[in-house]
Amino acid sequence: MKNHHKAERVLFTKAMKRTHTILIPDMLPVHFEIIRHVFAEYGYKTEILHNEGREVINTGLKYVHNDTCYPALLVIGQFISALQSGKYDLDHIALMITQTGGGCRASNYIYLLRKALKKAGLEKIPVISLNTSGLESNPGFHLTIPMLVKMMAALVYGDELMLLGNQVRPYEKTPGSADACVQDWTKRISEMLNHRRGFTLPEMRRMFQEIARDFAAIPQERCAKIRVGVVGEIYVKFSPLGNNGLEKFLLEQGCEVMLPGVMGFVMYALSNQEIDRKLYGGKAIMATVSNVALRYLEAVERAMLDAIRQQGCFTAPAPFARLEKLGERVINRGSKMGEGWLLTAETLELVENGYPNVICAQPFGCLPNHINGRGMMNRIKELAPQANIVAIDYDSGAASVNQENRIKLMLSSAKRSGDPVHNVPETQLSHNVEHEYAAT
Ligand code: SF4
Repeated sequence: MKNHHKAERVLFTKAMKRTHTILIPDMLPVHFEIIRHVFAEYGYKTEILHNEGREVINTGLKYVHNDTCYPALLVIGQFISALQSGKYDLDHIALMITQTGGGCRASNYIYLLRKALKKAGLEKIPVISLNTSGLESNPGFHLTIPMLVKMMAALVYGDELMLLGNQVRPYEKTPGSADACVQDWTKRISEMLNHRRGFTLPEMRRMFQEIARDFAAIPQERCAKIRVGVVGEIYVKFSPLGNNGLEKFLLEQGCEVMLPGVMGFVMYALSNQEIDRKLYGGKAIMATVSNVALRYLEAVERAMLDAIRQQGCFTAPAPFARLEKLGERVINRGSKMGEGWLLTAETLELVENGYPNVICAQPFGCLPNHINGRGMMNRIKELAPQANIVAIDYDSGAASVNQENRIKLMLSSAKRSGDPVHNVPETQLSHNVEHEYAAT
């Protein structure tokens, strides 16, 4: 598998590192903006794409088959639409796409992208694979351990900003103050990482506290809001392009939104190496290395959750160790294609942590998400009868009005059942979480 088709593909060379701008598709606007500065520190010039709308979908439909996973269609559509816009010097452009290395089709988007580029007459554009599984490599791009550590820091900061922004935005007295705080911190963290600061555990611990304090200080008026959690396939869960601006829509409907962070997915991917070793004959060395990384990230996560909890006015999500236990109540951890058991665990965690209304955002026809999301709903409702879950399919043919109507139906059922809530009571789960968390 290693360096697959190296002889046939256009490589990103050492010289290109100086001359080319690398385009990155949009998925997590805040997180990716911070990561961009980590790339800059290592000499890579990058740009996050923000083109959106029907034009991107139509371009995707033109260059990839319409039964392709919807996230792939959007990512490829966004790339080609940008390249065809006339905005870029095509002799000095490269593209970057992730390869997860898991069993799902996400490892193969890169081949679809190259096929689409060829069809569009853009095959000379080099495509860089961002992966940690030893899949494709390029002479001009190296993912080093220090770089990975900083990228992880960027993701955790992004998670904290997203989490706190979502918990303040519906209650802010001055419209836009939560967004201003997110922007201000995005800038400050980016500058810090650019100057090789803010990525060690003691530094992060201090920063997490400062960030949480700043959000808590925003003048707010706590009023009745329906609390809605969002889970799902990673791209359609986070990307406004993938989910037709779901967060914004929920905010307009008077909801408080909770999106479990992206670090959960990173930790899930790491923990899967141990599952691979136990169940599927995976390599012991991979499991050992992943376990070391996981222990480190758990310490970082603990520091962030402590900072959020200490303010006394925010809901801190359960730590990853708790998600593992919740998932095991419902589904075997061997279910690890796509978002796998994590999706089930996050749903259960949201319900028990005061967000009983959950939207499961899934690409149409995505088998792993239908199994771990829609397929687990009945069992979740047995365990947590207060759960009010709706699965929403996203694809190029789905009308957003239908999606919104189904969500409105879920919200009206939430209102009927006694939501909105003013202050979520300390649930039994919260006590359990505190207890187990303290023990880790
Ligand atoms: S998780 Fe679903 S959408 Fe993502 S690659 Fe797998 S099948 Fe496609």
